Amino acid sequence: SEYADISLKDIDQVSKSSFPLCMRHLFEKLREDHHLKHGGRMQLGLFLKGVGLKLDDALAFWRAEFSKKVGSERFDKEYAYGIRHNYGKEGKRTDYTPYACQKIISSAPGAGDHHGCPYRHFSEDNLRAALGRMGLSSRGMEDVMDKVRNKHYQLACTLTFEAVYGTSCDAGINHPNQYFEESQKILKS
Ligand code: SF4
Repeated sequence: SEYADISLKDIDQVSKSSFPLCMRHLFEKLREDHHLKHGGRMQLGLFLKGVGLKLDDALAFWRAEFSKKVGSERFDKEYAYGIRHNYGKEGKRTDYTPYACQKIISSAPGAGDHHGCPYRHFSEDNLRAALGRMGLSSRGMEDVMDKVRNKHYQLACTLTFEAVYGTSCDAGINHPNQYFEESQKILKS
């Protein structure tokens, strides 16, 4: 990424200041449960690659969490491959790109999954609570919920961005990594 090569020591702070809600949610769940199912590992893993987390840091990051749940041996055996694979170091060596909003919104998270787009996949109560934690006022929240009711999920995310950073986002949000970069531009200017 042009703005930041995220390092491990900054990742918690940056997740709170610059991640869109879909990625904040995955990040918090990973820290809480020390585990994410496949869809979550893909969605968050490719996003983190997109924000400039290097492969070695990515392995250390996922290993530290998963080790608390399944042990480091099982992590090395069952999960490390998938992370290297995302970085094009295994299998067909494709350099996989992070998912855009459309793909995330059209995904179908099942029970125990935390991937997807919260504007599309959260219950109204959970979404309101999450927006409250991002600091939205009740007025801002109603504007967002209005977009959600009309199934304009990316517009709902754009309004959230505008409320959080107090500035307009004319391009609109269409990619979690774009959200991240626009946010970093504002925070670092
Ligand atoms: Fe993530 Fe895009 Fe949904 Fe925003 S609109 S929460 S960036 S998937």
